[in-house]
Amino acid sequence: MDFSLSQDEKLFKDNIAEFCRKNIAPRWIEIDESGEVSPELVKQMADVGLIGMTLSEEYGGQNGRFVEAALAGEELAYHAPALSLAVLYLIQCSWPYIVQKYGSEDAKQEVLTKLCRGEAVIGIASTEAHGGSNVAGVLMKAEKIKEDRWRLNGQKSMVSLPTIIEKLPWGGGWVLIARTGEPAQQHKTITCFLPLMKKDGVRNEGITYKPWTEFARRGLDTSIIYFDNVELEDKYRVGDVNKGFKIAMEGFNLARTMIGAVCIGCARWLLDQGMEWIKNRNVFGKPISRYQGIYFKLADYWKELEAARLLCYKAAWIADRYYRDKDPHVKLGDVALWGAAAKLKCAGLAVDIGEDVMKWFGGAAYFKETPIFRAWLAAFSYVVGAEGTENIMRYIIGREVLGREYVE
Ligand SMILES: Cc1cc2nc3c(=O)[nH]c(=O)nc-3n(C[C@H](O)[C@H](O)[C@H](O)COP(=O)(O)OP(=O)(O)OC[C@H]3O[C@@H](n4cnc5c(N)ncnc54)[C@H](O)[C@@H]3O)c2cc1C
Repeated sequence: MDFSLSQDEKLFKDNIAEFCRKNIAPRWIEIDESGEVSPELVKQMADVGLIGMTLSEEYGGQNGRFVEAALAGEELAYHAPALSLAVLYLIQCSWPYIVQKYGSEDAKQEVLTKLCRGEAVIGIASTEAHGGSNVAGVLMKAEKIKEDRWRLNGQKSMVSLPTIIEKLPWGGGWVLIARTGEPAQQHKTITCFLPLMKKDGVRNEGITYKPWTEFARRGLDTSIIYFDNVELEDKYRVGDVNKGFKIAMEGFNLARTMIGAVCIGCARWLLDQGMEWIKNRNVFGKPISRYQGIYFKLADYWKELEAARLLCYKAAWIADRYYRDKDPHVKLGDVALWGAAAKLKCAGLAVDIGEDVMKWFGGAAYFKETPIFRAWLAAFSYVVGAEGTENIMRYIIGREVLGREYVE
């Protein structure tokens, strides 16, 4: 067992950190304050391989392994802990990978090549107002209207990226989960599609959106999306008809693994801020780091962060064993298990560290001039729900560890 990074991995991580130090760290607060991610920045990220990291070279990607993608995600989040850029990055590591695995060659050549050039992005459109946790219960309808044509009607209640898609020169869309049969059949009548809200610079007028006002992670604009008689060719179907539930779950598994890495970067930044503060803040004549009430907590969090990082990198390694190395001993259920564990552990830890670091800052934490709250609330999005709630992660872990028959 070797816990050190290879020479190549170390060099890669250092290069990404250097890029982030120069180009991202000076802008992260401004991005979070304005809520705007510019197309130029997406292009810059693509130019250094940060968009399309896990995609094949055939489409212009980096062919990166998930462990490498996790290393880059941690650095990106560390240097921009309000997370909008890191989340944009992690979504592009996971959902386009699903399109690459299950999409038609035409759609891949059309969309993934633009994505790797930083001209398009792909998100996920799953959640509906009646309960995001119940993916098998989606009501959004996809009707086959001709041999090679579908029509979408319905709403998705929380979907990230529409404003970014609108601003990018080519555009993009979402892996969308839709009903292609009787709702009573639950997961057996679900199919994935790739509707494009903007394609070749032209907006699809049938897809409209109404943004929520996010209190953190700003720049990613999560919105309600309306699909009104949106027609699309069969080439934008992702995988077989009525097999979409499992395909979507694969996307969630990968995204959750990457969320773990991003939350590690966020937690590491928060802890570094806390350490600097307690070493330098003097109260009652000495630095507050000397009070056991403070440094015992710090010790606990240091230990938790190291443990969480191991869990998260193991999740990425499991994904690589399954997808890249085709290891017959690693099952899809393992990818689900470790991805859920990484998300549950790392997001919760980042929030816990954030809350205590806020307390170490005392009253100063409560003013916008102290940016800790931006990282704390960004990680909180992953505790309350983005890509699955904590209880759903616990359900997956329980199901994989105990067996489905013991939890359902
Ligand atoms: C910032 C942000 C960005 C998002 N971006 C996207 C996006 O791009 N695309 C997208 O599709 N969705 C997105 N979402 C939505 C997200 O996926 C959902 O919030 C999540 O799946 C939970 O759904 P819900 O909010 O409807 O909660 P609900 O499903 O209503 O759950 C409410 C509560 O009930 C609990 N619960 C539900 N079922 C069970 C159960 N069986 N056992 C125990 N407890 C249970 C949950 O854990 C939770 O605590 C985003 C959310 C946020 C906050």
